[in-house]
Amino acid sequence: MAPVYPKYSQYANRKAKMVTALPVKVIENPAMHTSTCKAKILKYRKPREYKIVFAGGFYGANKNKTEKIEDIISHELAHIKYPNSHGYAFRRLAGELGASKRYQLPR
Ligand SMILES: [Zn+2]
Repeated sequence: MAPVYPKYSQYANRKAKMVTALPVKVIENPAMHTSTCKAKILKYRKPREYKIVFAGGFYGANKNKTEKIEDIISHELAHIKYPNSHGYAFRRLAGELGASKRYQLPR
């Protein structure tokens, strides 16, 4: 696990206020392979927080594409309310959280 640019955790925490009172950490996992998924969100009970985990290779190749990374963060934050759905309500929330049309769809 490795930290990402602080601006991405700041973005995540600013947007997360719409869906949770818990803090959100954004990290990359060099051992997570992009072929599985680009990013996922996990909930931890102790300490109570969410982690958005980027696949290391994907993050490394895209970390300077701010809009793309923020789009994915917004998408993952919508999964706080809809963990197992990419349905209409999920897509609407993802849009409210800042995801562009493309990232309101399954990723
Ligand atoms: Zn998704």
